[in-house]
Amino acid sequence: MSHVFHRHTKHSYPTAMRGEGVYLFDDKGKKYLDGSGGAAVSCLGHGDPDVIEAIKAQAESLAYAHTSFFTSEPAEQLADKLVAASDGDFERVYFVSGGSEAVEAALKLARQYFLEKGESTRRRFIARRQSYHGNTLGALATGGNQWRKEPFAPLMVETSLISPCYAYRGQQDGESAFEYGQRVANELEEELLRVGPETVIAFVAEPVVGATLGAVPPVEGYFKRIREICDTYGILLILDEVMCGMGRTGSVFAYKQEGIRPDIVTIAKGLGAGYQPIGAMLCSAEIYAAIEAGTGFFQHGHTYVGHPTACAAANVVVDKLTTGLAARSADMGQKLNAALKASFGQHPNIGDIRGRGLFQGLEIVEDRDTKSPFAPELAINAKIKKAAFANGLGCYPMGGTVDGRIGDHVLLAPPFILTDEHITEITDKLGATFAEVL
Ligand code: PMP
Repeated sequence: MSHVFHRHTKHSYPTAMRGEGVYLFDDKGKKYLDGSGGAAVSCLGHGDPDVIEAIKAQAESLAYAHTSFFTSEPAEQLADKLVAASDGDFERVYFVSGGSEAVEAALKLARQYFLEKGESTRRRFIARRQSYHGNTLGALATGGNQWRKEPFAPLMVETSLISPCYAYRGQQDGESAFEYGQRVANELEEELLRVGPETVIAFVAEPVVGATLGAVPPVEGYFKRIREICDTYGILLILDEVMCGMGRTGSVFAYKQEGIRPDIVTIAKGLGAGYQPIGAMLCSAEIYAAIEAGTGFFQHGHTYVGHPTACAAANVVVDKLTTGLAARSADMGQKLNAALKASFGQHPNIGDIRGRGLFQGLEIVEDRDTKSPFAPELAINAKIKKAAFANGLGCYPMGGTVDGRIGDHVLLAPPFILTDEHITEITDKLGATFAEVL
């Protein structure tokens, strides 16, 4: 009997033994193409010798030193690199161990920023339906996935949810994509006026929606309007790039493609590329200055903040991203999108194929014309996951909430070292999977 507390208590899992490039191997020697990089984590692929060497060297010289006593070279270097990659949009980087922790830190920093300015009435967030920001209580509160939230509803921070920017389902006949984006962005203003802007801390959103919708990018102009509304009403803009950041959408930071500057951004997953658990929150000079001029102390913290070995691994990842690998994600992403459209663009059960960079999603529907989803009881996404796995493909199928019902999508987020041959392998294996399940 296993004593590991597996999250799905009724499932049994093969044991992962080895990773090499875009492939994973289990204890029976079965080979899987890691088509979703786990959960959009493994951006470099498996077994990268440079990251492994950096981890070894760091562990030999200094594995850990508590940040109440010391800073460390790898943490300082990594913060410099991330700030440079943001072109100075941010001034400070707060390191944590994963995505939920990054979001949690962002929510608390945003609240403390307003406390430092004497604005203590600000106590709630506005976020979007069909979003995910993590499983810790604060992050969960700002997420829109009702299934994840419901059991813990009494423990939630006050959050209002507005529509996501989801053109495939939201854009109306006769409305341009731009008009649609403005309309859904304006819901933020309506909600601010309804609850009172003086009670709101921040608007929280993923630039490109990951797990709950399946790689849904915003339409042009949406985030510009969101930024404008945040500025008009004096609330902060927190962008969650835990899944879509670190080159996943073709640029090191996903928000750069929107032509705006958020006040806080969160990253994780691809930052450690699966080699180390690490996340980070980056904040503007203005926010840091308010803390510095006020309490002089961020009232938050964890034991593993700025872990030297984790930062050493992430330094190599960021170097690779900024010297061509993020650009490769953009190029290979276009090829993957074209291959998916060529293979499944006319499939009667594939309603939409969308994404940016190597962050691509396919929306599964019962009927392409009406866009109606399959009945939730059919658990199409679970069946796809199982069949794809049996076919040697790891992908990330999920059910999102569509008009109160569960819809299905498949998320692909392969390592950026992917080749043309791997793309063909993905479409072949997905094709076989769809033929079995749909
Ligand atoms: N934010 C987003 C956008 C995510 O996709 C995730 C994880 N899927 C998280 C936060 C939480 O990250 P973690 O699982 O590392 O806590």
